[in-house]
Amino acid sequence: METDKDCIFCKIVAGDIPAEKVYEDEKVLGFKDLNPVAPFHALLIPKEHIATLRDLHPEHDGMMGGLMRAASEVAVKAGLDEGHRVVGNCLKAAGQEVYHIHLHVIGGRQLKWPPG
Ligand code: 5GP
Ligand code: ZN
Repeated sequence: METDKDCIFCKIVAGDIPAEKVYEDEKVLGFKDLNPVAPFHALLIPKEHIATLRDLHPEHDGMMGGLMRAASEVAVKAGLDEGHRVVGNCLKAAGQEVYHIHLHVIGGRQLKWPPG
């Protein structure tokens, strides 16, 4: 499995940096965001290091399906029954700060659209 020793999310996968886990399976890890933008804010990541959403290949299709399903499971478990948002930022114009794929799961308040 691809990992990057300098990547903060790879360090969370390895257990070298603590995180509040909300989901885990063989390929996917979910944990609370350090700087939440809403009452509930979690991140779902592949355990494999993939830098951006543009680096996905057909071999990742199964994992990405699982990532999306896990995002819904996390939202249901968090009781976000009024709704939630799943967001993936790709590259700098979208505000990507961590170059290891992640989906944000955000909820617990009314969210605006379009996003900033
Ligand atoms: P991006 O802007 O790349 O889409 O989002 C990166 C997210 O990772 C941000 O919401 C930021 O708060 C979160 N984050 C960055 N470093 C850490 C960390 O060490 N632990 C956790 N739990 N979240 C982090
Ligand atoms: Zn990584």
